Amino acid sequence: MNKGRSRGGKGRSRGAAGSGAAAAPVDAPFQKNEEVTVDIIGLTHDGEGVGRAEGFTLFIQGALPGERVRAKVMKVKKQYGYARLEELVQASPSRIEAPCDIYKECGGCQLQHFDYPAQLEWKRQHVVDNLVRIGKLSVASEGAAAANEEQASGGIVVHPTIGMVEPWRYRNKASVPIGTSAQDGKLIAGFYARGSHRIIDMDDCLIEHEDNDEVIRVVKRIGRELGATPYDEASGRGVLRHVMARTGVITGEMMVVLVTNVKKLPAAEEWVKRIRAELPNVKSIVQNVNERNTNVIFGDETRVLWGSEVIYDELDGIRFAISARSFYQVNPMQTAQLYHKAVEYAGLTGTETVIDAYCGIGTISLFLARQAGRVYGVEIVPEAIEDAARNAALNSITNASFEAGPAEVVIPRWRKEGITADVIVVDPPRKGCDPALLETILAMKPERVVYVSCNPSTLARDLRVLEDGGYRTVEVVPVDMFPWTVHVESVVGMRRVDVTNN
Ligand code: SAH
Repeated sequence: MNKGRSRGGKGRSRGAAGSGAAAAPVDAPFQKNEEVTVDIIGLTHDGEGVGRAEGFTLFIQGALPGERVRAKVMKVKKQYGYARLEELVQASPSRIEAPCDIYKECGGCQLQHFDYPAQLEWKRQHVVDNLVRIGKLSVASEGAAAANEEQASGGIVVHPTIGMVEPWRYRNKASVPIGTSAQDGKLIAGFYARGSHRIIDMDDCLIEHEDNDEVIRVVKRIGRELGATPYDEASGRGVLRHVMARTGVITGEMMVVLVTNVKKLPAAEEWVKRIRAELPNVKSIVQNVNERNTNVIFGDETRVLWGSEVIYDELDGIRFAISARSFYQVNPMQTAQLYHKAVEYAGLTGTETVIDAYCGIGTISLFLARQAGRVYGVEIVPEAIEDAARNAALNSITNASFEAGPAEVVIPRWRKEGITADVIVVDPPRKGCDPALLETILAMKPERVVYVSCNPSTLARDLRVLEDGGYRTVEVVPVDMFPWTVHVESVVGMRRVDVTNN
């Protein structure tokens, strides 16, 4: 791609186009509303086709790499523009009919028009591109099978994406906003439309566990019957903001969370009675209060309306208690694969001390603890740390301990207290690791670092810092946790250079 190339001197001046329309910048070859034929050469990180025409870049939602499309220019900037797909002149062999009825409107999935093997390949390439462009890392040519020393010296081995055999109905958690239908004023719930906060009413979501869809349908119906008022972002009025449904796929236990804009949920007892009557697998009904005008889903106050504070699930024989506010990976089948890779890259022999930073409810920590000497987990959400401690006890795991707080504060303190680690595992949120944490890792000098990442760009940025500090990235495996969406998860194995050179 050539987004930064100057087109000075080559631009054609087209003057102002019609009344009120802003003039296109002089060096763009197109202007708004013009129809163009474009070759698609790639996909952006959010799934838009990247088109090139007359040396200019146009982003086109819905277009796939290798396609030639006719598109209408909607917006022109100096170096690039946006166009709307009008017609496929030459379709990609990887193009498929999206099976979901509301795919075109709904912002939940981005790649339902791209067949699954092509998606997996694109996800791998997306990781490689980030490692090379942002991380300035050298990647071994495709087909390098194993990450042994020889191949690693020729660059990082990036394995094929681990995909799902049956990539549908994989999500164990549905979390959707509640609003009002513009057509008939009815209470609705569903994902936001692409690029907006307009709710697309949803009854059946093909990436969601059926039981979660059932919860959303039932909550909508009860809300309508009880006359509950949906939250309105613009005015800040209304009661119901969000509904979250979580299913323990192995245990069958379910939790329903109603996020409200008020402390007291009107007709709370009736809500409980009806949810229990209609959804017998629900073991926990929770209210979370969020009275702020914010996009953040949860507020600080969480209370159990009925049943247990947690539900249970199992991964690879380990049992986990999960409370409403705790992070728990949404695709349990792939999670087990992800964690097995993390444990494999940790290279444990049974004696090592391991730190699991950003540990959530201690999932990776407990997988590690089965093969390590001692594991220390740290996580910022106190409820998640309570779950983590409970989970260690539940599984009679005695060599793991947990502390609540920011990893970048707690781990430097541990270091001062004399704790050192042979292996550090990090699994940060999308923004990546705090610089202070990376500094602490470099000071602590573990033999291996395992980086689990849900964002290839911050991953690449952080790997660069660790490489500059004396670590070598050995291998990377993308794991498809979120089929049909643009999201890519990766596990990375790193080693300290002076160790690998021995
Ligand atoms: N490893 C866990 C959780 C990964 S998600 C699992 O696989 O389930 C990332 C976690 O980082 C979340 O639980 C989030 O609450 C936590 N987090 C975010 N910022 C943090 C920080 N500065 N320090 C520690 N944990 C943090």
